[in-house]
Amino acid sequence: MPNSKLFKYPEEIKDKFISTKGLKFKNGTTVSSAEIWEFMTEEAPRRFPYAFDANANNIGRFSDDVHFLSGIKRAYLTLTFKDRLLKEHAAGTPTVLVQGGQAMDAYYAAGAIPVRPGLVMQWAQSMEEGLNLRQSETRGINILESGRRKISIDACNQISAHAAIDNKVVPIDLIAPFLCLRCSDMAFLVETHRNREHDIPRYMVDYPVDHENKPWAAEYIEVELKELITKIAALSGRKITDEVIFDEIRLENRGRKIANEIAELWWNAENPPINSTDFFAIAFLANDFLGDPVASVDLLEQSKQEIEERVKNNVKGYGVPDDAKRLYICGSCVGPNAHHAETAGAVFVGRDDNWSCISVLVEEEGNPYLNIAKSMLEYPYEQRTEKRAEWTAEQVRRSRASGVIFMYQWGCNYQSGVARMISDIIREKTGVPTTFVEVGELGRSEATEQSTNRVEAFIEMV
Ligand code: SF4
Repeated sequence: MPNSKLFKYPEEIKDKFISTKGLKFKNGTTVSSAEIWEFMTEEAPRRFPYAFDANANNIGRFSDDVHFLSGIKRAYLTLTFKDRLLKEHAAGTPTVLVQGGQAMDAYYAAGAIPVRPGLVMQWAQSMEEGLNLRQSETRGINILESGRRKISIDACNQISAHAAIDNKVVPIDLIAPFLCLRCSDMAFLVETHRNREHDIPRYMVDYPVDHENKPWAAEYIEVELKELITKIAALSGRKITDEVIFDEIRLENRGRKIANEIAELWWNAENPPINSTDFFAIAFLANDFLGDPVASVDLLEQSKQEIEERVKNNVKGYGVPDDAKRLYICGSCVGPNAHHAETAGAVFVGRDDNWSCISVLVEEEGNPYLNIAKSMLEYPYEQRTEKRAEWTAEQVRRSRASGVIFMYQWGCNYQSGVARMISDIIREKTGVPTTFVEVGELGRSEATEQSTNRVEAFIEMV
């Protein structure tokens, strides 16, 4: 990858940016917009040069829409993830490895920071500072290869996260994802930790995969969640009451509701008000909460206001092509490069993976454990394949998508098994063209030409 230019936020937007609200955090602290600006223009480019690499292949490249000011704050939350986690961990907050699709309410309520495999890798790569994109890629590949050697050559690329934990690149105190339909490898990878030299405790939240019309299923998960929260609370020292869990549910529901409102605004706007990178990054806040649900919900609120303003004034997000082809993206953990897709004339309108979790609210009264269990059973992504495809077809209609790309990583056996069937059902139900693409590039920014070519060819066809 040739040395490419580094992206910089232009000085002309500084005054406008620093006049906006800062962000508040769950520990009661706040950061001002002036401090965010200082970090994003001085400290972060020095510490994390790879994140500012303007090469279009850079899968983590920030949005070019510098006038969408919430996008800069979103990038700030990404680049401060490492510092925030290490600081909290040093102060006694346990870190827990979880699964890609599960809601985080139970983990945060119990006083932990849940971290998904993708974020573990982002965290692991950022542990060495001053790296350019090539060096950061090489660091990621070395961790991945160590996982292949030590754990398995058959798993998907998320094995890197397990290798980063195993090699103590990042400190994880508990490995506790939920077993589910979406992921073929997580259960197996958790089991491999049983035989490793480290002694990280493990707990698998069991999930009845075939749960339709099984009234006992919610109560079964409820018991598992109680056990999970007890285990985490023993590490965090937090006293757990129903009200503590409901406080977290209410906060995260607020985030999910705002993310859904943003999606509706975006879908119904005459012109897409923010580009694909910003749209996905903002919605993802309500799916992951990036170590701090208070900061994430604060930013979701600010983002919604900015987007409403843009919709009112019919502003199109920078980078969105005129008459863009609207693509709905399916598949787990991996997706097409937004910058390439926009250059080829498309815009991304949604993603089944993230939207599945965001679309389900947790009931705010009654038994909080049972309520979280019921919400987990409702995830569209965790239904039998026809039902999942029907929900996705509905998303395609509501988002007015003109094409669907189902992308899956090599080694991801469930997604590769259902990609064709889901694509066919969506096409049959909506009449929208669909395609599916297998890749081997999850988490990488190099050697992605093959998938880029296939995505661009599909956009041309649409
Ligand atoms: S790519 Fe597939 S197998 Fe790998 S972690 Fe994601 S869902 Fe699981």
